[in-house]
Amino acid sequence: MGAKTIIEPFRIKSVEPIAMTNFAQRDGFIRNVHYNTFLLRAEDVLIDLLTDSGTSAMSAEGWAAMMRGDESYAGARSWYRFRERVTEIFGFAHVVPTHQGRAAERILFSVMVQPGEVVPNNTHFDTTRANVEFRGGEALDLPCVEGQDLESDFPFKGNMDVAGLRQAIAERGVGRIPLIMITVTNNSGGGQPVSMANMREVSSIAREHGIPFYIDACRFAENSYFIQQREPGYRDKSVRDIAREMFALADGCTMSAKKDAFANIGGFLCTNDENLARKERELLILTEGFSTYGGMAGRDMEAIAVGLSEVLHEDYLAYRIASTAYVVNALDAAGVPVAKPAGGHAVYLDAKRFLPHVPSLQYPGQSLAVELYREGGIRTVEIGTVMFGLDPHTGEEHAAPKELVRMAIPRRVYTQSHMDYVVENVAAVHARREEIGGLKITEAPRYLRHFSARFERC
Ligand SMILES: *Cc1c(COP(=O)(O)O)cnc(C)c1O
Repeated sequence: MGAKTIIEPFRIKSVEPIAMTNFAQRDGFIRNVHYNTFLLRAEDVLIDLLTDSGTSAMSAEGWAAMMRGDESYAGARSWYRFRERVTEIFGFAHVVPTHQGRAAERILFSVMVQPGEVVPNNTHFDTTRANVEFRGGEALDLPCVEGQDLESDFPFKGNMDVAGLRQAIAERGVGRIPLIMITVTNNSGGGQPVSMANMREVSSIAREHGIPFYIDACRFAENSYFIQQREPGYRDKSVRDIAREMFALADGCTMSAKKDAFANIGGFLCTNDENLARKERELLILTEGFSTYGGMAGRDMEAIAVGLSEVLHEDYLAYRIASTAYVVNALDAAGVPVAKPAGGHAVYLDAKRFLPHVPSLQYPGQSLAVELYREGGIRTVEIGTVMFGLDPHTGEEHAAPKELVRMAIPRRVYTQSHMDYVVENVAAVHARREEIGGLKITEAPRYLRHFSARFERC
C-alpha cells in the first residue's frame, strides 16, 4: 500500500501573497465595517471562504488559452472553440453565451415564465429565485426530507421531493408550470448532490406532462463525481459519461462558468428547442451582446473551454471532494457542530448548536462569522436569519429554519495547511464559545439585507 494522503494534483508556479494581520488589527477592521463580512476589504482577509464563485485558480493551460483569445466582434475563433466544448460535454442543440449564470436565468425565464406561473426546483439558488419572482412567477422549493436533517448521512441530500412535485403538478395544474428545474449540486441545500435516479424520475414526470426540464448545472462535475462514488451502478463509468447521461435527461440548462469551469467570469444557456433559442438570442442582443460572445471577451470563452475539460479530470475531482470532506471530518472530530456528510463546494457550521445561548434574532450565524474573522482572519458568510429572516412585504422578522455559517472553498486555491489553519481557528472559537454574545441590526435595507446590513454587539 502506498501513501494514503490525497495530494493536490498540481504544483504552484504563480503565487499571490496573503497580508498577515493580528487579532487586534482584525478586531478594528470588523468593527469599522459594522460586523458585516461582505464589507471587509479583501486584502484584510487571510483565508477568504466567502464564495467559490469566480475565485478559482486557473491553470497554465487556461492562462495560455487566454492569450489565444480572438476578440473579433462576430464569429470569433474563441466562440467556436467554446461552443464545441460546451456541446461535447452538455450535448444540447443550442448554446447561448452570457456574462454569468444569472444572465442565463433572466433570459430563460423571460422567454418561458409568465406572471402567476410556478417553477419547481429542488432548491432555487437566490438569483434563480429572484429572476423567477422578477417575472411575476413563483419559485417553489421542493427539497427531499433527508436534506432537512443536518445530521443525516443520506448520500443524496440534494434530491428533489418527487411526491411533492407530483402533488404540485396536480394542485397547480400542468398549464401553470412552464418548466421544472433541478440544481446540481444543490447549492442552497448545502452543496449536496442529486442522484441520477432522482433526475431520471423528475425527467420522466416532466415528459409525462409535457413540461420542459432544465438543469441548473453550476456544479455539474462535482455532482457527477458524487454519482460515480455513491450511486449503485456508476463506479465503472467516467465522470464525463455520467455528465452526458445527466444532461440527456433534460431539455436544456443554465450554467455559471464561475463555478465548475474555473473561470473568473462567464456563463451560458443551452436548449434543444430551436424556437426558444431564437427568442433567447433576440433578448441576448439587447443586454448581453451578439450571439457569438454574449457579454464575454474571446479570452473568457477560451478560459472556459479549457476549464470545462479540466474540471472533469477525475484526479482533480477526487482531490476536490476529499479536501472538503477533510475539513468536515476534522471539525467533527474536534467536536464542532458541522453539517454532514460533506458536500462538494462548502462546509457549513451549525451556528444553532455552536452558540445555543444566542437566540435566532440575535443572529448566532453572523456572530460566529465575526468571531472566525477576528480569530483567524477567515471570511465566511451567514446563511440564516440575517439572510432569510426579514419578510420584505410585511417588514416582519422571523427566525430562519437553520442558522448556518458557510465556508465555501475556492477551487485549487488553498492548500491542506491553509485548511488545517482554518480548522484550528474554528476549534479555538468553539473553545471560547460561551463568552460569545449576539448582535443587533442598526441599519439594513429591505431586500437582500445581508450584503449591507450594519450590526452592533447586544
Ligand atoms: C452561482 C449560482 C448561480 C448564479 O450564477 P452567477 O454566475 O453568480 O450569476 C445560479 N445557480 C447556482 C446554483 C449558483 O451556484
